[in-house]
Amino acid sequence: MRKLIIAIDGYSSTGKSTLAKLLAKSLGYIHIDSGAMYRAITLYVIENKMIDGGNIDEESLLNNLDSIDIHFEYNPETQQNEVFLNGENVEKKIRQMKVSSKVSLVAKIPEIREHAVNLQRKLGESKGIVMDGRDIGTTVFPKADIKIFLTTSAEIRAKRRYNELLKTEQPSTYEEVLENIAERDRTDTQRKVSPLRMAEDAILVDNGELSPQQTLQIVLQLINERFPNSH
Ligand code: C5P
Repeated sequence: MRKLIIAIDGYSSTGKSTLAKLLAKSLGYIHIDSGAMYRAITLYVIENKMIDGGNIDEESLLNNLDSIDIHFEYNPETQQNEVFLNGENVEKKIRQMKVSSKVSLVAKIPEIREHAVNLQRKLGESKGIVMDGRDIGTTVFPKADIKIFLTTSAEIRAKRRYNELLKTEQPSTYEEVLENIAERDRTDTQRKVSPLRMAEDAILVDNGELSPQQTLQIVLQLINERFPNSH
């Protein structure tokens, strides 16, 4: 039985984590949401007042990098790996709009990316992993066995995200969500270090008209065709 590394990349709110979770469950693999790492670092920046509007105190942040412990723990109740920042489960906090609105600024700092990529590669050493993000197929695991690039229109993505946020304690307006998605698309694709782009050998999947289950079935079929012994 061959254990694979599966990379899922794409624009914000395309359902990468949903697909990655379902895929990991079907294959008996672990799932790592790399965006959760950038979000956790951003939460640290906000809580330690290292950001003022759009200005990050990069010097303080980089000096404190060693005191930011990020790790994942499996929660059997939610059946998910959840992210911890210095011992606190921050899985819910990092999804708040105050984090979403700043995360791309933190994620474009080269030293932060290097730090996060090192952690991600360590997590990949065990194989049998599905990792989702923006640069997994291009930078983190350029030799991943399967690379999927998810996409669909910003309006469909904003609608999905808006509906998710409605279920939380801090909902936002649809316009605010759409603007945040467009802004993150811009920052993520235009940054200097490992900008968001599709790897040459990635498979493009537009899931605008597909349910999570339908997307899963398409990707499972691809995996089974290429690697009949992967699970
Ligand atoms: O995936 P998610 O939307 O939670 O990611 C939050 C942000 O983290 C993205 O908008 C992007 O700026 C950054 N990110 C990244 N590289 C990754 C994963 C996320 O730059 N591999």
